[in-house]
Amino acid sequence: MQDNRQSRSEIDILKSQDAVVDVVIIGAGPAGLTAALRLRQLGYRIRLIESSAQWPRFNIGEALTPGIKNIIEMLGATDALANVNYLTNIPTCLRWQEQEPQWLKASGSAIVNRAQFDAALLVHAQQQGIDIARPASVQSITGAADDWTITLLNNGISQTVKARFIVDASGRNGHRQFPCAERLSALWIEIRNENIAAGIHNTTRVEALEHGWLWGSALPDNRYRIMWVGDPRSPRKHNPKQPQQWLATQCASSHLFNSLASVTPTQPLKGCAATPGFAFDSWQDGRIKIGDAAFSLDPVSSSGVEKAMRFSLIAAVAIHTQLSGDSVNHKTLAQDFFQHRLIETCARHSYWTRSYYAQAWCQEKAFWQLRSQPWQPVIGNPGDDENTQTLLAALAQELAQLNHYHPVPLKSLAQFDVTRLLSFDSNTTWVTTHCVIDNLVTNQTALYHPSVERPLAYLEGEALLPHLNILQKPQTLSSLLNNLACRMPLEKAQKIIAWLWQRGIIASV
Ligand SMILES: Cc1cc2nc3c(=O)[nH]c(=O)nc-3n(C[C@H](O)[C@H](O)[C@H](O)COP(=O)(O)OP(=O)(O)OC[C@H]3O[C@@H](n4cnc5c(N)ncnc54)[C@H](O)[C@@H]3O)c2cc1C
Repeated sequence: MQDNRQSRSEIDILKSQDAVVDVVIIGAGPAGLTAALRLRQLGYRIRLIESSAQWPRFNIGEALTPGIKNIIEMLGATDALANVNYLTNIPTCLRWQEQEPQWLKASGSAIVNRAQFDAALLVHAQQQGIDIARPASVQSITGAADDWTITLLNNGISQTVKARFIVDASGRNGHRQFPCAERLSALWIEIRNENIAAGIHNTTRVEALEHGWLWGSALPDNRYRIMWVGDPRSPRKHNPKQPQQWLATQCASSHLFNSLASVTPTQPLKGCAATPGFAFDSWQDGRIKIGDAAFSLDPVSSSGVEKAMRFSLIAAVAIHTQLSGDSVNHKTLAQDFFQHRLIETCARHSYWTRSYYAQAWCQEKAFWQLRSQPWQPVIGNPGDDENTQTLLAALAQELAQLNHYHPVPLKSLAQFDVTRLLSFDSNTTWVTTHCVIDNLVTNQTALYHPSVERPLAYLEGEALLPHLNILQKPQTLSSLLNNLACRMPLEKAQKIIAWLWQRGIIASV
């Protein structure tokens, strides 16, 4: 009797959670949680929907790059993560460029218990006033931008939520993505530290082999993970239906893992797809994809979590721009900014990955050859819609720019001749670029020069225009400094001129 009454009141509470919010976010991984927390900081009402009944739920992706620390601070979550188990100062033994293994110093990365990490962020989100439905699943979505109706099953109870914007942060699974590289998959096992030789369990190990690479990672809680990443066809061809045997063979044939080839794993072998990909429909009117749902990266960079979180911050700015603005112009700005950053993220990662694969000692082997070639998206497939074609062309252009970008060595300030006039280098141009000001996307005029990776609107926190307009005519250093010093501290003006001169953006004439 008592139990029935309790469950009735639970049902009433869940039913009463029919709600009107600003943004519904689907998926409480790092991407969804970051977007939820940032949008909450910007004053929005959020409903976060997570399907996993098991929580904390298992997840790989536990090596976190140092850049995550700033994001955590920005989200005010440092204290919330204080009890998450992690390892740091782990040295890496690398057999990649050289056949001879090299020891690298610890890089400032942390290896966390991802289940605990995500769970602690979720608790923090709840404490910040984010409304969480878990375990819950979306049953239907109807409506349009600014007026969506989402029906969900929350703990078995049907609820309706009205929202202005929907964010899909449900991860890589179940999303069709355009592959940005040759196919990859990952297979892994976990072993207990006590079953492996001392000297291995507190290390990270990475080794390039003929058909792919092996990654050994010390994990919190006395675990060690051995992962093979390679072409999914290799295990099928060499060890059909016996992927565990394939992993053992790869370890046995390696230098860094051969003593681990026959260690008994704590659980059955696991595996997943790992092909880098990109979802062209990531921006639709009032409905976007972020994190792995929008782009998935090659695990070789171990930066998926940071990139997913960083992109969520970008998405939050785009959403804020659209929701707080009242003109078509805001919508266009938000979409352009979002899509441009998405393309930039994918292109840069693709470029970096290709260069890294090209450095492997075994790079003449087929697996490595295929992944070291510049990747070029095929444009003009008859089945591609207009948006896909535009994004593919933008992606190709971004990749071409990266392939041609060669940073010039910085000029020594000792060569600076104070007696000569200064002017813009002939390759310097002004372009319009997106800048985020007060969390809103704006268009700004920026300097562009082949020696910088991207257009530059601000230096030292100062807008370059109109300050540098004076350089349309050659100036002496003192007249330039005097002019700038009327608008900013002299020291700052000196730093800006030195920075631009060292890169050849302004030159002595
Ligand atoms: C083999 C491999 C190794 C990797 N190693 C690393 C690494 O060492 N370091 C690193 O930084 N990154 C690594 N990554 C990448 C990293 O795991 C991901 O980039 C990161 O988890 C992406 O975060 P996300 O929030 O987008 O997605 P996820 O972490 O996948 O979170 C998605 C969430 O959405 C929920 N969900 C799914 N469907 C629904 C639905 N329909 N409704 C509601 N909720 C739903 C899921 O339960 C989950 O909680 C690795 C990836 C692979 C493939």
